[in-house]
Amino acid sequence: ANSLPQSNETFLARQAEFESNVRSYPRKLPLAIAKAQGVWITDVENKQYLDCLAGAGTLALGHNHPEVLQSIQSVITSGLPLHTLDLTTPLKDEFSSYLLSLLPGQGKEYCLQFTGPSGADAVEAALKLAKKVTGRSGVISFSGGYHGMTHGALSVTGNLSPKEAVNGMMPEVQFMPYPHQYRCPLGIGGEAGVKALTYYFENLINDVESGVRKPAAVILEAVQGEGGVNPAPAEWLQRIRKVTQEHGIMLILDEVQAGFARTGKLFAFEHAGIEPDIIVMSKAVGGGLPLAVLGIKKQFDAWAPGHHTGTFRGNQLAMATGLTTLKILKEERIADKVAIQGEWLKGKLAELQKRFPVIGHVRGLGLMIGIEIVKPNEAKDHLGCYPADGELSALLQKKCFEAGLILERGGRNGCVLRLLPSLLITNAELEVFLDKFESALLGAGVKPV
Ligand code: PMP
Repeated sequence: ANSLPQSNETFLARQAEFESNVRSYPRKLPLAIAKAQGVWITDVENKQYLDCLAGAGTLALGHNHPEVLQSIQSVITSGLPLHTLDLTTPLKDEFSSYLLSLLPGQGKEYCLQFTGPSGADAVEAALKLAKKVTGRSGVISFSGGYHGMTHGALSVTGNLSPKEAVNGMMPEVQFMPYPHQYRCPLGIGGEAGVKALTYYFENLINDVESGVRKPAAVILEAVQGEGGVNPAPAEWLQRIRKVTQEHGIMLILDEVQAGFARTGKLFAFEHAGIEPDIIVMSKAVGGGLPLAVLGIKKQFDAWAPGHHTGTFRGNQLAMATGLTTLKILKEERIADKVAIQGEWLKGKLAELQKRFPVIGHVRGLGLMIGIEIVKPNEAKDHLGCYPADGELSALLQKKCFEAGLILERGGRNGCVLRLLPSLLITNAELEVFLDKFESALLGAGVKPV
């Protein structure tokens, strides 16, 4: 190890040599990680960063939580195999029953399907299942939605730039507008805007002359993540649930990012009190290791043997870290803590917004918070508009990084700075975030009023 270069720069140069040009987030952050603990990351030059990304929400309990590490140790000492295909084990049995107990109605009407290591895997399986159940093929998805980078998941992702590299997506995917608190796509805003979007969805499905064929599935995030932290209004979600039920359309809720206490409820759809037909779970469900699972209403479990298989569906380490994580989230009532903290943090950010009008909008639920950065003219005229460009938010992200703060961007042109820290982050650590964020604003040349 001593012969390895010990500066961020040399590691990055070597990475550029080893890896292809493709980068996902965090986009080109100039550091090589030496170690991490809790909400802190230390780079190879011994600089510390407050991690407000937490593996894109994967590390619900932060880095290297002692009990999560201990659960890996317990797999090692118990002699369980690392890899089981989809054979069962006592650990898988316990994980399954615990996870089911967290689903609506204690999971009595649901069964689980382990799909593979990633969120995209689970989305693929959900889409296939919906087609099988309904005998139909179309899917309705929403602008700004993100479901992954595999072919089917990308096809239902409402963001064109990753599609530009690919010729031709899955056919029969239609996109509908998703409610946006700040930039109502109908240019109406407020409750009236939500109502109009609700009617719009309902009419397109009900009206045989709308040109929209009855789909197999509607897929959505109850709080869009990559799309710029957009919580769906409860009444909109409830209406979608009702209409999909009436038409026998599978409602797939993608909880990959918003699930597991992130938004102040165990699942984000709980804010609307609805029950999906298929729940897509990944990220936090594996406690930091790769795991993806579907929750399927039993009546729609239409698979027959051989219809959907895959090699990595029995990762015992991920089930151990996942089980420990789920138990801590549930038993220590982390969702309640997160809900309170989210409101507190939004209040603090609203104070900052008064002094820095480039903060156009602060939104989100729990510890899934978006800060939309705007140009001066946008602050008064944003309904139905797209943000002008992401230059300032990119500069702010860079200044945050220099101040020792890692956060992600999302939404149109990357104009939304996104917070997805460990759910165990303390208010004192959030104060550190606020200080660093303010210094980044000043460092970017933003003048307070
Ligand atoms: N769905 C949502 C809501 C996501 O946020 C993501 C990842 N950001 C995915 C699906 C895809 O997950 P993965 O990257 O593990 O394929």
